Amino acid sequence: MKMDAEIKAVLISIGSIDIDVSLVGKIGMSTAGPAAGEKSIFFRSGERRVRLTIDRKSPLHTALDGEDIVILMDNRELTRGRIEEELIHCPEQAYITISERCIYDCKFCTVPLRDGKIKNTKEIKELVEGAYHTQLLKAIAITSGVADSPGREVKRAVEVIKALKKYNVPIGVSVCPAANSTVMLKEAGADEIKYNVETMDRNIFSLVCPGLDLDFILEALKESVSVFGRNKVYSNMLIGLGESDETVEQGVEELARIGVIPILRAIDVHPLRSKEITANRPSPQRLLKLAKITKEKLDKYKLRVDQSQTMCLPCGGCDLVPQVDV
Ligand code: SF4
Repeated sequence: MKMDAEIKAVLISIGSIDIDVSLVGKIGMSTAGPAAGEKSIFFRSGERRVRLTIDRKSPLHTALDGEDIVILMDNRELTRGRIEEELIHCPEQAYITISERCIYDCKFCTVPLRDGKIKNTKEIKELVEGAYHTQLLKAIAITSGVADSPGREVKRAVEVIKALKKYNVPIGVSVCPAANSTVMLKEAGADEIKYNVETMDRNIFSLVCPGLDLDFILEALKESVSVFGRNKVYSNMLIGLGESDETVEQGVEELARIGVIPILRAIDVHPLRSKEITANRPSPQRLLKLAKITKEKLDKYKLRVDQSQTMCLPCGGCDLVPQVDV
């Protein structure tokens, strides 16, 4: 059975899969965001793609049927398809994290707990060069924790982006905003930008993102639309932190009204953070409802997901993408 929106919602809601890794080519491990440190696969069925964390305890199991990978739940076939190889972090993109460490302490993210390395421009160029020679490279995406200050991190991203323009593919950037960051990243050659609000519930924001300023992020997003243009500015909104559907709907409307495309991301509670945060992965029904609401708002404000060439919208692995999946 091909994966439709309802089945993709079930897979995202569960978020993991018990799969024999010998069935999978190169296995990726995320170095950024809530899923940092987790091994995952990309599963494609028909036009849809989903990313699932590998977990022996998952209620989703797999079987091989000819060329097909069959995903089973309660010993019943849910869908079938193929494993897609990732390039760097996801298929068709070189999605690279500069600093795998962060001075902030967002309660859903494990990067601050990892104290990882800071990649220099030479290392990043070598990674992209390798991806470029596969002839599968369609886009480059640069993201980063904040190793010392948002301003210093933006300078690192500017240097990296300038060095990668020679590959003539669209470049997206997702960092913490800083003074003048939007213009600096645009002038460096970035084509698309993402500043994450994480949640539009202000009480929850103050609890889970201590030290960050939601109004500053919203101002940076507004400026980004005037600098990068409509359909080129995105923001992740985590679902499952205790926010109501009404707050999500109002937040999606507020972002779409200023020309920003919200990306609704099911919360992933990493074991390293499970004692610090109360969160529930959203049900398939809730994911579908909120994705349909987001589609309505995007249509209302004439925003188009299919104009996006970098980062999460063209990938679609972690989300029900409005105007694509629903
Ligand atoms: S949707 Fe975004 S975070 Fe998820 S795998 Fe794709 S690029 Fe990575």
